[in-house]
Amino acid sequence: MQPRDLSAHSPYVPGRGSEEVARELGMDPDELTKLSSNENPFGPSPEAVEAVREAAPNVDVYPTTSHADLTEKLAAKWGLVPEQVWVSAGADGSIDYLSRAMLEPGDRVLAPTPGFSYYGMSARYHHGSVAEYELSKDDDFAQTPETVLDAYDGERIVYLTTPHNPTGSAFPLEAVSELAESVEAHTLLVVDEAYGEYAERASAIGLLSDHDNVAVLRTFSKAYGIAGLRIGWAAVPEAWADAYARVNTPFAANEVACRAALAALDDDAHVERTVETARWAREYMYEHLDARTWESAGNFVLAEVGDASAVAEASQREGVIVRDCTSFGLPACIRISCGTEAGTRRAVETLNGVLAEVAKP
Ligand SMILES: *Cc1c(COP(=O)(O)O)cnc(C)c1O
Repeated sequence: MQPRDLSAHSPYVPGRGSEEVARELGMDPDELTKLSSNENPFGPSPEAVEAVREAAPNVDVYPTTSHADLTEKLAAKWGLVPEQVWVSAGADGSIDYLSRAMLEPGDRVLAPTPGFSYYGMSARYHHGSVAEYELSKDDDFAQTPETVLDAYDGERIVYLTTPHNPTGSAFPLEAVSELAESVEAHTLLVVDEAYGEYAERASAIGLLSDHDNVAVLRTFSKAYGIAGLRIGWAAVPEAWADAYARVNTPFAANEVACRAALAALDDDAHVERTVETARWAREYMYEHLDARTWESAGNFVLAEVGDASAVAEASQREGVIVRDCTSFGLPACIRISCGTEAGTRRAVETLNGVLAEVAKP
């Protein structure tokens, strides 16, 4: 017995976790500064933590009310009707729902390289295939309609990530709109705004009223600080929003996650502090890191360090975990998440020490 041919499927490579690294180094996880997965350095909102505690005694029943309440709250916040809000287990879950709703076997998606690997993984799970458009380092990873349209060949789904992971570059809203009008009528443009809170620009959700081929991904994993609960959502056009009922995995967005997300939405101060600190940290890294960096609209900065895996490993030995971008196809770059002020300063100091020792290109 064998599974189907999975040779085209590559495993997801996550940023390294504190406990995993601490065990390997024989250190206390609290001594580590983990800046490898773009999580919230302040943790979850205290209100979300309280909601998790309060939800604990009720996990014997399937989530129904909490899911409906979260859907309605998001719809009200974003000026959508509830059907347009597809709540899922992380934004990754929404990527799967869109794959299920859109792809016939053999259909292609178009995704950025370097880029977030789950777009292609999800397409392959759903018997689709993947084409890529390149964001070029020589061009500072600029994202324009032309970068996408030069590679576009009638794909069923086109993914845009803005702010882009791992480069931090942003796609202007007018350009998203231009692209939505340029692609063929059967092409869905998926705008991934996992880092949308950090960007100083309007969300593409505002385009949904004028375009029936644009969907937007949002998540509670980054600015809201509840990545471990796996909760996210997609905003989709009203015209086909009812497809959710046919494609969603029943109860995939769990009770605890829905309750925590509802509470997190009420804690604006936590998100504001998170976003402001990230803005400070980006500037601090541009200014003080002894490496080339790219301007980022997210809660992370890409830096060119020569041998990324050597630099990431050396920095990890000193207790600072950053993301080696080799798996993104950028073997000379690391991605450093924005930490607290202290965490960011420590990371820059440690990396500068490492860079002084490891030969640069
Ligand atoms: C983190 C991330 C996501 C979503 O992650 P979830 O935890 O599944 O919500 C989506 N897209 C990009 C580009 C990301 O970096």
